[in-house]
Amino acid sequence: MEKNKKILTAVFAAALLIALFFFLIAAEKPVVLNSGRRRIMGTFASVTAVAENTNAAKKCIQAAFRQFEDIENLLSYHKADSELSNINHNAYPGPLKLSQTAFDVIERAVVFSELTGGAFDVTVAPLVDLWQSAADANAVPGDAELADARSKVGYEKLILDVNENTIRFAEEGMKIDLGGIAKGYAIDKAVEAMKNAGAVGAMVDIGGDIRVFGRPPKGKKYWHIGVQDPRDAENYLLDGSYMLVLRLQNSAVATSGDYRRFALIKGQKHSHIIDTQTGQTSSRLSSVTVITENAVKADALATAVSVLGAEKGIALIEKIPQAEAILLSAHPEYKLIKSTGGDKYIKVVSPY
Ligand code: AMP
Ligand code: MG
Repeated sequence: MEKNKKILTAVFAAALLIALFFFLIAAEKPVVLNSGRRRIMGTFASVTAVAENTNAAKKCIQAAFRQFEDIENLLSYHKADSELSNINHNAYPGPLKLSQTAFDVIERAVVFSELTGGAFDVTVAPLVDLWQSAADANAVPGDAELADARSKVGYEKLILDVNENTIRFAEEGMKIDLGGIAKGYAIDKAVEAMKNAGAVGAMVDIGGDIRVFGRPPKGKKYWHIGVQDPRDAENYLLDGSYMLVLRLQNSAVATSGDYRRFALIKGQKHSHIIDTQTGQTSSRLSSVTVITENAVKADALATAVSVLGAEKGIALIEKIPQAEAILLSAHPEYKLIKSTGGDKYIKVVSPY
């Protein structure tokens, strides 16, 4: 009897210990929460947070979307009351005082304009407007219109004063367009906000530009990221038509391509990316993916390489530390071209 009691107590104690063990493991395990797709900056954003518990993960996601909204309100080209609209109306003759955020992002954009020799050019807006009107009228712009727009483009005519936080356009009619860098900027800001809110890992995605940090879900070592296949453009909002799956840790990836946003003029596809040297829309590559340490750099470089084409684009990427590029050449060739270290990020190349 006494012996049975002892055995029962021992079994009960062991069961308690096991239960406690599993409880501790469960409590230790971070929670993974996804925001679902939400509209922002003319595209869709999705945020995955890895945090201690559900409440913390929710707070991290909220912090990310707050950044997205603040940045969109500040930097939208189309919102009449954005700071960017104010800049485009009043920086000539200027000077015009800027908020710290606007100054910051424009300063970064100028750095990338210089680094890429103007392939990325933050003052491209007059040409973007011209091609927008051309698409509306279904007629390509004439030489005189192109020359006029080009005369108002050139990052060297944008004057920033770092002491005063002011901007000035040297020429009337100049305008800036942050469409090639704003997504990256917002992603980096969101990552910072999520870290401050206690995230131990995250994936932040705006329109396919993505940055990851920290702990991937389910004990994995890498975050796996699909890069859309431009040959399957109609399905770009659906999952499953990837040309590549990348594996990343603490880095960012941006993809520029003519398959997501383009204009049809007389049945001909025109990319939303413009070569400011010629004023023409760029058609050298169907997809450009850049992987590097932060999203602003990835975003700006992907736009620049789209303009430069394969040879000059890869040459630029090879010169920049910690940057790799994976390109798909234009229709009908569709050849995969990689910078020297590009392979280490590729998990799968899907057959087409
Ligand atoms: P992304 O999708 O990041 O490649 O950026 C494309 C957007 O950047 C376009 O919709 C324009 O707003 C803007 N853009 C177009 N051409 C250029 C260029 N050469 N340099 C900088 N921004 C550009
Ligand atoms: Mg870009």
